[in-house]
Amino acid sequence: MTLVLAFLAQYAIIYPMKSDPINDLLDDHSFRSYGRKRSVCIKQLICVSCGADVPSPGKWNKDIDEREYNISGLCGDCQDAIFSREED
Ligand SMILES: [Zn+2]
Repeated sequence: MTLVLAFLAQYAIIYPMKSDPINDLLDDHSFRSYGRKRSVCIKQLICVSCGADVPSPGKWNKDIDEREYNISGLCGDCQDAIFSREED
């Protein structure tokens, strides 16, 4: 992830659903990467990468997965695949 995208991700933590130029950039990036807009996926509770349904806000098994979803729009399985996290 470039430094610019890292900054945008931090911004998205604070303003996950705001309609503004930063989120437009994040939507553009996710659309070019996955063919889906991040903000639309978050509203529809689906994964930006695989399109799977994700839990409602506050219903995730892991808080960290929910926080990451609000940044990247990735479901837990796609987060695991991309970040190669070890199991707890
Ligand atoms: Zn996914």
